[in-house]
Amino acid sequence: MNIQQIRNATLVVEYAGKKFLIDPMLAEKGAFPPFGPRVGFPDAPRQDQNNPLVDLPTSIDHIINHVDAIIVTHLHLDHWDDAAKEALPKDIKLFAQNEEDATEIRSTGFKNVEVLQKDTVFAGIQLTKTKGEHGRGELIELAGNVCGVVFRHSNEKTLYVAGDTVWNDKVQKEIETHKPEIIVLNAGDNQFLEGGSLVMGKDDVYEVYQAAPNAKIITVHMEAVNHWTLSRDELKNFISEKGISSNISVPEDGESYSF
Ligand SMILES: [Zn+2]
Repeated sequence: MNIQQIRNATLVVEYAGKKFLIDPMLAEKGAFPPFGPRVGFPDAPRQDQNNPLVDLPTSIDHIINHVDAIIVTHLHLDHWDDAAKEALPKDIKLFAQNEEDATEIRSTGFKNVEVLQKDTVFAGIQLTKTKGEHGRGELIELAGNVCGVVFRHSNEKTLYVAGDTVWNDKVQKEIETHKPEIIVLNAGDNQFLEGGSLVMGKDDVYEVYQAAPNAKIITVHMEAVNHWTLSRDELKNFISEKGISSNISVPEDGESYSF
């Protein structure tokens, strides 16, 4: 497999001969409002800066070229935006987390939308929807439902893309159940000014490492939308201090890994 970090949660995953685009946010830098009061959320860091904070590392055409399927883990703007809706062919295979999201995606013209299940199979690849929570306490309801996905194929290592979730017993159970060898974590510790983490921070990443010490972990969803609080440098320092730098990769946008 090959996993390319594009930007934020946007990944290109080549797996068992198929190319998946996950959580496409394809807008130009600064194209939409920051997460914060302007779009119905609480105050947030950098709420004077539009999203995305950074440009794509490569052209949209290059990113979507020969993509076989899209996976949208939830509909927040930093995972599914207007630029993606415009750029992608309307007949492309698209997986959504639930019927509600699928209906919303279909309403923008997409004709081939399927709800991810525990036992979805696409081109011989088993795709399993996984559980997560987009924060803790009151944030869970505010942020809404999310999912992750496990990829499994006899010719490939098992890949777990956790999505927008913090560390919790749900994630722990997914790791115990699927025993992934490769794990992608959304780890920018994005937050509003109150309520705590919406996705993983460095302590969450460490929990995942402890739950899967032999897995290769890749951290994404960093420094790309306004409410991030954990930088790549801070995370790299943390994993260096813990002595686990060889277990965890912190890619720059555009960087890719083969397994
Ligand atoms: Zn997100």
